[in-house]
Amino acid sequence: MSFASLGLSDELVRAVTERGYTEPTPIQAQAIPVILKGGDLMGGAQTGTGKTAGFTLPLLQRLMAKPVAGKAHIRALVLTPTRELAAQVEESVRLYGKHLPLKSMMMFGGVNINPQIKQLHGRVDILVATPGRLLDHLQQKTVDLSHVEILVLDEADRMLDMGFIRDIKRVLAVLPKQRQNLLFSATFSDEIKLLADGLLNSPALIEVARRNQTAELIEQRVYPVDRERKRALLTQLIKDNNWFQVLVFTRTKHGANNLADHLNKEDIPAMAIHGNKSQAARTRALAEFKTAKLQVLVATDIAARGIDISELPHVVNYELPNVPEDYVHRIGRTGRAGSEGEASSLVCIDEKKLLHDIERLIKREITVVQVPGFEPDPRIKAEPILNGQNRGGGQRQGQGRGQPRSGGGQPRTGGGPRTGGGKPAGGASRGGVPSSAQHRSGGRGR
Ligand code: AMP
Repeated sequence: MSFASLGLSDELVRAVTERGYTEPTPIQAQAIPVILKGGDLMGGAQTGTGKTAGFTLPLLQRLMAKPVAGKAHIRALVLTPTRELAAQVEESVRLYGKHLPLKSMMMFGGVNINPQIKQLHGRVDILVATPGRLLDHLQQKTVDLSHVEILVLDEADRMLDMGFIRDIKRVLAVLPKQRQNLLFSATFSDEIKLLADGLLNSPALIEVARRNQTAELIEQRVYPVDRERKRALLTQLIKDNNWFQVLVFTRTKHGANNLADHLNKEDIPAMAIHGNKSQAARTRALAEFKTAKLQVLVATDIAARGIDISELPHVVNYELPNVPEDYVHRIGRTGRAGSEGEASSLVCIDEKKLLHDIERLIKREITVVQVPGFEPDPRIKAEPILNGQNRGGGQRQGQGRGQPRSGGGQPRTGGGPRTGGGKPAGGASRGGVPSSAQHRSGGRGR
């Protein structure tokens, strides 16, 4: 199958050919004809499937099919959860639209609003924005969305995860009722279905297999280790195996910062990226990582999502994600497009349930590799909730590494890690070593 046979115009086919793509990906093959016809679409596809070109190409063609005389207006709006994704999508719009006279603009927060206001005074046909900053512009009346013909919600599930639902609804409220709606999401939760129900008009439903669901090319490994020894194990794995371009996932921003600091102290160049970092810092980290100047990038799920870094040799789950699907997203960064990759998960005892859920989702057991010297202390038991004092901690697993929440009253606190080679003394607190309260917290991270 060719791009031309999907009904795309010469200018667009030329642009994709120049980009080096010869054949549409499955999502492109299915979505392009539907969008060209003008229908609504619900697309189940994650980053890495080629979804961006899947909606950008037909979107451009639809706009070209009906050129508007007179003053130009924003005719297509793409909403994305993150700045990185907004930047990437807008770059794609420019790339695929290079032979067309359409103008695009990206808009996100964390940067000065004035240049954006200035740009909005000029011609903008396609606006790619994150919801928060777009709302700022709407409130300041510096953007006019009353001529939008096509709306795209990209990574809608992430936008909901990030709490953008109200912002999205406010944006929807100012759009013309008559328009084409495209919604892309990697997962179809009830919340997404609800959003889709209210938004889409008899949509075509297209779902492409998660590219790495089967993950034949990904060598997946689980390394059992006590929580407090994860840093040491990761350092050893990176050094002993000479791993470069390692993407490490942590659950929290705080955890990402701590780990990056630690690796730097160990002479492993590392940077953390997450939502609290400035745009400039994120861009720099990503650029250095891509050019392999930076050995390790430590990221939270949200920060990593939507970033176009793929075919990485190593992805490490420093902590397992609470949501098993996120595991698939994470490891999907490696072993793409025929190249092999390794996905390593450092798993401590209270992550066993999470591991079990992941294995159930991917329908396979992950190979367990025990690194000598890092055997988990058998005295540490992952016990379910022991008393009310632990309640509510599940989400915060890993957040306070090294700064234990007071685990007072824990019956089994002897199971500290073997930091410094010392035998756990069995006391509730031993020199800043987290009590087993922390260990147990993850087990409830449902
Ligand atoms: P996306 O899922 O849109 O983030 O795209 C994932 C990656 O696939 C990007 O690096 C694209 O440049 C690339 N890509 C998109 N379409 C194709 C295609 N038809 N053939 C090969 N690579 C593609």
